Amino acid sequence: MIKNLLSVKIQINTAYLEEIISNCKNGLIVSHFNPDGDAVGSIVAFYYYLKGRDIDAKLVLPSGYPDFLSFLDPKEEKIKISFFQKKEVLSLIKSADTIFCLDFNKLSRTEDLEEEIRNSTAVKVLIDHHPVPEVEPFSMVISRTDVSSASELLFWTLMSMPDIAGNINNISIECAQALYVGMMTDTNNFSNSVFPSTFEMASELIGRGVDKNQLQEYVFNSYSYSRMKLMGHILKDNMYVLENQKAAYIILRDRDKKEYNFSPGDTEGFVNLPLSIKGIMVSALFTENINEETSFIRVSLRSKGDWNVNLFANGYFNGGGHTNASGGRLYDISIEKVPEYFEKAIKEYLKK
Ligand code: 5GP
Ligand code: MN
Repeated sequence: MIKNLLSVKIQINTAYLEEIISNCKNGLIVSHFNPDGDAVGSIVAFYYYLKGRDIDAKLVLPSGYPDFLSFLDPKEEKIKISFFQKKEVLSLIKSADTIFCLDFNKLSRTEDLEEEIRNSTAVKVLIDHHPVPEVEPFSMVISRTDVSSASELLFWTLMSMPDIAGNINNISIECAQALYVGMMTDTNNFSNSVFPSTFEMASELIGRGVDKNQLQEYVFNSYSYSRMKLMGHILKDNMYVLENQKAAYIILRDRDKKEYNFSPGDTEGFVNLPLSIKGIMVSALFTENINEETSFIRVSLRSKGDWNVNLFANGYFNGGGHTNASGGRLYDISIEKVPEYFEKAIKEYLKK
């Protein structure tokens, strides 16, 4: 049964993608550094789609993903993390004939894999929902910003592939589940970047058998006791409000991470918390990251309405993202200097 889906407004030229996929023998699927639920969800979903077509694809990420997403990692083809298995990952890129890039708009988001991917002669496909994607390295770019997530864009892409033909039952349950997780995490469980097409996607996936409550348990209710204590600590002692700027920010220091037994993914959701204060329109989280491997401060930004954190991240934090959710980094500045830097930056940005 092909349903008359409203959101086949998201028209994708799938003929070319079909041609690329039918010629693919050694596929490689990659997403961005510091992968989130959409990054992991979209690559895993695409992996299962290709697997259903008997295509052997490898999954690669530049850095590790949070523990609460590990249930998505396919048992038979574990995601390779370049940070831990660099040699192996580079050789996989070398031997790939087709590279599928999901949930990022610039190859630089793959960090130390950028050069190898850029120089590879493989056919490259980008499927992404960030504004202004880099197009030059890719044979095919599927880019829309009027979707919740890369996972949603992938969902509509797959739905229009000839073998799926708009019938959700032709999508495997593993693929459906990963797509749901990507959308659910990027929208913060339907609270932002939600479009009519997003609910439609959710409705289709739940109809397919996706257990939304179980996925919510895995993703949102699997934190440690110490992470909750860390949240309490930073909210009480390390959150600052700039009333005149309708802004708030949180500082997370390495010493607090240590004290509260921090693990990657523990900061998930922290940056959204100040936005629940009445009147606050923009929020920032600064995470100190000074150790043997890295020395920068990670910046996370969230906003409401027209407050554009993408431009703000571009201008002041060496980063980018979306209008209401962006990220970046600060180099050569100590965590103690961040309040001064942020307050100056926001005043300057608001003046413009
Ligand atoms: P988060 O705050 O969750 O780390 O990132 C929010 C969004 O900002 C991500 O979905 C991604 O689009 C973007 N983003 C995060 N970090 C960076 C970065 O270092 N550079 C760029 N260009 N975008 C980033
Ligand atoms: Mn995304």
